Amino acid sequence: MLISHINRIAPPLNMLVSRKYRRENTVIDVGNIQIGGDKIVVMAGPCSVESRQQIIEIAQIVKKARASILRGGAFKPRSSPYSFQGLGEQGLHLLAEAHVVTGLPIVTEVMSPSQVSLVAEYADILQIGARNMQNFPLLCAVGRVRNPVLLKRGIGNTLEELLLAAEYIMSSGNYNVILCERGIRTFESATRFTLDINAIPVLKEMTHLPIIVDPSHAVGKARFVTALARGAIAVGADGLLVEVHPNPEEAISDGEQSLSPQMFATLMNEIECIARMLHRSI
Ligand code: PEP
Ligand code: MN
Repeated sequence: MLISHINRIAPPLNMLVSRKYRRENTVIDVGNIQIGGDKIVVMAGPCSVESRQQIIEIAQIVKKARASILRGGAFKPRSSPYSFQGLGEQGLHLLAEAHVVTGLPIVTEVMSPSQVSLVAEYADILQIGARNMQNFPLLCAVGRVRNPVLLKRGIGNTLEELLLAAEYIMSSGNYNVILCERGIRTFESATRFTLDINAIPVLKEMTHLPIIVDPSHAVGKARFVTALARGAIAVGADGLLVEVHPNPEEAISDGEQSLSPQMFATLMNEIECIARMLHRSI
């Protein structure tokens, strides 16, 4: 490869992630679900897997509301080392049970290269969290397995850096990458982060990869999540990642931003109307 080519990292990107490399949208198959096609894909569930009863109950609830993928963290990246760190491997077993009961595919986070083979046995989609967006050995490790990867934007990273992180995964051999805008850190302190709504149409122009939005972590307060979800679909997101808990006041992590089952059902009905206007469905 020419040195001049290696050094050309500024957009327009002449790389695997680029629209210049592939003009058509990439559509990723997860079981019988397609991400990046006409259907809006909603991934929903608790921040953390807490118990068998909790994950199975919420899996059934989100399925009934027409979510198509179950989310839930077993390995949790927490700001404080004293906070609940997730159930670890036991959490993966519980996600597998919820999959057996509901048939919903699973998305769950992997935090280190050494965990990739274990998590890949249980996860239909491997999640790379915002804090690990530039963990390059981890990006290469998920690039070497076949599971689709949900790559979350770092809280202080540009869209170009997000695309370069996706390029690490793709250039390691895994072309099934889903990008996720989850809010960035700004001077605004009224909300947890600031959803960068610009990111969706801008990324759609820069890349052929599917883009989903996580309104839960972006705003950090349950009562605002549905409004942001509507906005995300309106600007062209291919799906959502939403935290839902059977009993948000009792959640071990991120209860403040978790929707109740009732709020989630409303969210689904409202985004369906917006999807229809754009000739899409849920
Ligand atoms: C999550 O989705 O559970 C999570 C930890 O999100 P983020 O990496 O975006 O903070
Ligand atoms: Mn969370």
